[in-house]
Amino acid sequence: MLGLMQKKQLLISSILTHAAAHHGEQEIVSNTIEGGMHRYTYADAEKRIMQLANALVRLGVKLGDRVGTLAWNGYRHFEIYYATSGIGSICHTINPRLFPEQVAYIVNHAADQYIFIDLNLYPLVEALGAHLKTVKGVVVMTDKAHMPDTAKLSATIPVHCYETLIADEPETIAWPDFDENTASSLCYTSGTTGNPKGVLYSHRSTLLHAYATHMTDSSPLGAADCVLPVVPMFHVNAWGVPYSALMSGTKIVFPGIQMDGGSLTKMMNDEKVTCSLGVPTIWLGLLQHLRESGQRLETVKRFLIGGAACPLAIIEGFGKEYDISVVHGWGMTELSPVGTINAPKAGMEKMSADEKYRHQLKQGRALFGYEMKVIDDDGNALPHDGKSFGRLMSRGYWVVSEYFNDDENPDGILDDDNWFDTGDVATIDERGYMQITDRTKDVIKSGGEWIGSIDLENVALSHPAVAQAAVIGIPHPKWDERPLLIVVKKPGAEVTREDLLSFYDGKIAKWMVPDDVAFVDEIPLGATGKILKTKLREQFADYKLPTA
Ligand code: ADP
Repeated sequence: MLGLMQKKQLLISSILTHAAAHHGEQEIVSNTIEGGMHRYTYADAEKRIMQLANALVRLGVKLGDRVGTLAWNGYRHFEIYYATSGIGSICHTINPRLFPEQVAYIVNHAADQYIFIDLNLYPLVEALGAHLKTVKGVVVMTDKAHMPDTAKLSATIPVHCYETLIADEPETIAWPDFDENTASSLCYTSGTTGNPKGVLYSHRSTLLHAYATHMTDSSPLGAADCVLPVVPMFHVNAWGVPYSALMSGTKIVFPGIQMDGGSLTKMMNDEKVTCSLGVPTIWLGLLQHLRESGQRLETVKRFLIGGAACPLAIIEGFGKEYDISVVHGWGMTELSPVGTINAPKAGMEKMSADEKYRHQLKQGRALFGYEMKVIDDDGNALPHDGKSFGRLMSRGYWVVSEYFNDDENPDGILDDDNWFDTGDVATIDERGYMQITDRTKDVIKSGGEWIGSIDLENVALSHPAVAQAAVIGIPHPKWDERPLLIVVKKPGAEVTREDLLSFYDGKIAKWMVPDDVAFVDEIPLGATGKILKTKLREQFADYKLPTA
């Protein structure tokens, strides 16, 4: 027997309709590429989104068509999110920090029909020109006055100006109704191994993820909050903020291209930001800026940090010096992206401040709607004891079932029970808190035992002279591999190899302590701001450990 409730489909357009109807006065503020801050309300945004949707229909964009974006966090990018999905086409966000060949590969693989591009990225699409085989038009996300010289690209692909394109369109549209499992957006993994793979989200998965990620024990957002997503809108839909914020009527501040500590501090104080989200490298920069400038963040209560392991130095730094809680979360492109968030359980209020900070090193508990387990090499589930580590498996409402147009995995990517292997190695403790030990491909295999690089990096990062740290495995004649610690020192700070190695005493089992330390000027970061271990391994391919 079926229930007798209304069968309204979970569609992204319904978020916008609700937001404009019930929070029409709420603000969206953007730091623009052209210069200056742009501000408007949810109600204004809805009108422009409808104009853009009408323009897309006029251009011939249909249900299921892919529309690419190469853009930073700003109001026009936000409008594209809602206009494309609203008419049933697919918002395909592309990471502009990828190499041009990778961008061309992704655009062609996705068969994007149109590309929307931010003004300062225009040279990228101009250079790619004829390599973009399926693109019928490029839209420069600016007004007429700021349009670049488009003569070169126009010879192969029509180029439009965003504001001209939407100017004469009606400010209303009747959003079409369709199945909630219809695709809504597309995001490619950064492809550190092999070609990038497309993860195709649906309206249903996006809505359920947005609900789950702003509950009280997630990254809560309310109508009195102001959120600044530092995490880019091309990196897994800015972790769902453009959807979850509108569900709750939260003010949004889009930072544009200025993500340095000084600019973030100014925007956070000027706009009274209460919470912000991003990867650890951003927060290290902000923390350093606050310490050097003596400035404070007047209204910020909480940072959600994920995408890479959040070091204790960040958690303690913001907690002790600035009274800001750092909430650690974990996820991946294949998970829309959030799977776990570290919120306390009853009884944990009795922990000392230091215990609480240390506990934040764990990546957190499963949100409702997401299931996880850790398994050994034979596929057996490991106990929740906080010690047994194995492959982390995922399943749930917003977990990938297959990659988009995937020829590399003819047998699919799930096991017989629909579990997806995340490629991460983790433990789960008695209370259900998961902790990532490493990525499977980064784990150091020493004499039949596994050493996780994250713990070793965390210890190094808690040394006052260390700005950045990475640990990789170096081949060793006796042990297979041994850890090498690679360090960038803080400006003006001095520390020796011996100091750093003895700093591990008592903090980690002796056999896990790195065999050597290499000091470098910089550590290579990937397109989403994470340490590129593949690059480091290439850089240190011929490195001889003193113990070898
Ligand atoms: P990529 O970095 O390949 O583009 P994602 O952005 O989807 O892919 O990153 C997912 C991966 O990032 C996870 O599988 C995990 O290895 C890592 N990751 C994400 N959050 C955390 C975290 N809080 N701690 C440690 N690792 C994390």
